[in-house]
Amino acid sequence: LEKALEQQRLTELKQNQHTQTKKITVVGGQGKLGRLFVRLLSELGHQVKTLERDDWPNAKQILAEQDLVLISVPISLTLDVIEKVALHISDSTILADLTSIKRKPVDAMLKHHQGPVLGLHPMFGPDVDNIDEQVVAYCAERDVQATQWVLDDLALLNAKLEQVSAQSHDNAMAFIQVMRHFSTFMYGFHLKQENPKLSELIALSSPIYRLELAMTGRLFAQDSQLYADIIYANPDNLALLKRFSLRFQAGIELLEKGDKALFKQEFEEVHQWFGNYADHFLAESQRMLKAAHYNE
Ligand code: NAD
Repeated sequence: LEKALEQQRLTELKQNQHTQTKKITVVGGQGKLGRLFVRLLSELGHQVKTLERDDWPNAKQILAEQDLVLISVPISLTLDVIEKVALHISDSTILADLTSIKRKPVDAMLKHHQGPVLGLHPMFGPDVDNIDEQVVAYCAERDVQATQWVLDDLALLNAKLEQVSAQSHDNAMAFIQVMRHFSTFMYGFHLKQENPKLSELIALSSPIYRLELAMTGRLFAQDSQLYADIIYANPDNLALLKRFSLRFQAGIELLEKGDKALFKQEFEEVHQWFGNYADHFLAESQRMLKAAHYNE
């Protein structure tokens, strides 16, 4: 029933907004995220093809006369693929990508393609049914007017569009993704070495601790290549991670000194730094935990 309602909503939206049928090729369109975008764009009524790694001998024909070519290949191959794609597309084709980093792919698209360029980063995994309320970061790079229909289509699917420069995006992702994923990786790595009995930890955990354990465990259920690529993509992030490690060490020294007063002072200063967000996050996480509990 939910699927039927979603379909009906899309049909109505399409009728109201007169989405024009466009010719689209998703490069890497049989991959995890590519497949999702092939489905979403097809459901909007577009003619969507894929170009996969064995399709390069036919690239000229596949990429001819496309309105949009969307790159969704592993991060480590993205720059080479952009260069190869650009050889075959016309100046009126929009070149866009879904890469989790933005500055290098956007620079490469601007360098190798003369036409409209749009950088996208869907802030969700490929396992979502729809992109309702999901954030899509975008870098409007060249010929914003020509690329507007792509953003309109995402808005039609109720995505939350956030415009950002490629550099600001990568700076923010250093905190949102790189630090988060690396800390999670280290936590899992540490657990493995310490080897506590997981079933016992789970049994003794209340929902919030189980959620934290789940957030760690879920990383390791996913694609190591994607996370390695995200963490290794930008060498500048290493300096940030090293500062984190130094502060961790300083925190240990605080414990060793037995200085509880200083710990409390630092705690309060971090609280002040979070400002109103601290109370907001407390309330929001309580709502999430309640929802998770009732949905179990
Ligand atoms: P994936 O490995 O599942 O898919 C990549 C696809 O590219 C595969 O189908 C592969 O066959 C194809 N491919 C490989 N080399 C190719 C080549 N030379 N030419 C054409 N196709 C080629 O990866 P994914 O997880 O779907 O990630 C794709 C992109 O999406 C990455 O840039 C990633 O940063 C971004 N992204 C992924 C997620 C996620 O959670 N998976 C989230 C946001 C953004």
